[in-house]
Amino acid sequence: MQNKVSVVKCADYSHAAKAVRESLDLIGGIEKYVKKGDRVLIKPNLVSRKKPDEAVTTHPAFLRAVIEIVEEAGGKVTVAESPGGPYNAAALKAVYRMCGVYDAAEGTSASLNLDTSFTEVSFDEGKTVKSLPIINPVLDADVIISLPKLKTHAMTSYTGAVKNLFGTVPGTYKAELHFRLDDRKAFCSMLVDLCECVKPTLSIMDGVWGMEGNGPTAGQNRYIGIVMASASAHALDKIACEIIDYAPYEVDTVREAEERGLIGTVETVGEPIEPLIIRDFVKPESHFNLLKLLSLPPAVNAWAKAALASRPKINYDACVGCGECARCCPPKAIDMSGGKPVIDKRKCIKCFCCQELCPQKAVMIHRPFLNRFMIKFLK
Ligand code: SF4
Ligand code: SF4
Repeated sequence: MQNKVSVVKCADYSHAAKAVRESLDLIGGIEKYVKKGDRVLIKPNLVSRKKPDEAVTTHPAFLRAVIEIVEEAGGKVTVAESPGGPYNAAALKAVYRMCGVYDAAEGTSASLNLDTSFTEVSFDEGKTVKSLPIINPVLDADVIISLPKLKTHAMTSYTGAVKNLFGTVPGTYKAELHFRLDDRKAFCSMLVDLCECVKPTLSIMDGVWGMEGNGPTAGQNRYIGIVMASASAHALDKIACEIIDYAPYEVDTVREAEERGLIGTVETVGEPIEPLIIRDFVKPESHFNLLKLLSLPPAVNAWAKAALASRPKINYDACVGCGECARCCPPKAIDMSGGKPVIDKRKCIKCFCCQELCPQKAVMIHRPFLNRFMIKFLK
C-alpha cells in the first residue's frame, strides 16, 4: 500500500485558499475525490467555543477555502461537528458563532448541521470496539473531508487527522468511551477503529498556526506555516508527527495504525520534510514515554505507571467555579459541592477532558516528582 501526503507552505491565513488548492492538486486534485452532486460532509476541529486566533480550532479562512473548492467541484456541503460538552442545537450554534463558522459559510451554499441524531454503527472488523455511535450527517454523506488542526494533546500526546474523528461521536457518548477505555493505548486503538469505520475520503490539515505544550486547548500557539493533505488520515498523522518531532512509537494512534498495516509506504509530495521539522516543539507535560518501561516485570510496570502518571490539578486562582469540568468528567470524579472543583484521585482516569474543556485554562497538568526525575534521567 502506498499513500501520498502533500505538504505545502502557507505564510498566513490570507493565503489559505491557494495553499489548500495546491495541497489537493499534489494528490490528484479535488475532482479525484468529489463528483458533481456528491453530498460532502466537512468535519473541522471545533473542540470547544474558541476564537480563531486562539489556534485551537480549524481556522475559518481554511474552512471557507475547502467549502469553495468542494462547491466548485459540484459537491453539496454540510459542515458538522460534535464538539466537547453538550450536543444540542443551542450548543452547536454557540460553537459555530465563536469559532467563525458562520463567517466561513457566509455567501456559500454550505449548510451548518444542527441535527443531533445519531446511529449505532456495527463494526465487526474493530479491534477494540465492535460498534460505535456516529452522528447521522456523517453517515448520510457520500464524501467525508476531515479538517484537523496540528496540535499536541494531554491524553493522546498529539491530535490530528485520526483524533479529529472523535468529533463524529455524539456528545455524552464520548465520555462513555473515555470511561470504558480508560487506558491510553485502548483509547487510541478505539480511535483507529473509529477512523476505519468512518473512513474519511480526505484529510486536509490546518498546520498554519498549531498548538504546542498542553494542548489541545490550554497550550501555546505555535506558527508552523504548513497545509497538508492526504487520502490516508494515518499517513498524514505520521508525517505531521515527524514534523513536530515525535517518534512514531510515541503517538499511540500512529503506532497502532502502523502495527495494523494501515500506513504502508508514505510518499511525501511538495515541500521536503527535513527542513520543516521543529526540534523544539513543546510536548504536553503529561507526555511520557512509558513504553521505555515495558521491559520491567508486569507488577513493577503497573506500579511505575501509577507512580509516574501525570494528573489534572486545579489552579484555584484561575478557576471561576463554572462547573464545566465536572459536567464533562466521564467517571464523575469532580465534586463541585463547595463551589470549586475537587478531584477524587481514586476515581480519576486521567483522560484530561477537564483540562480540554475548561474555558479558563484553570486545569493544570501535575507531574509527580518521580515523573520529572525520570524524564530528565532518560533524556
Ligand atoms: S471548568 Fe475550569 S473554571 Fe470551570 S470549575 Fe472547572 S476548573 Fe474551574
Ligand atoms: S478529573 Fe479530569 S482527567 Fe480525571 S477523569 Fe475527570 S475529566 Fe478525566
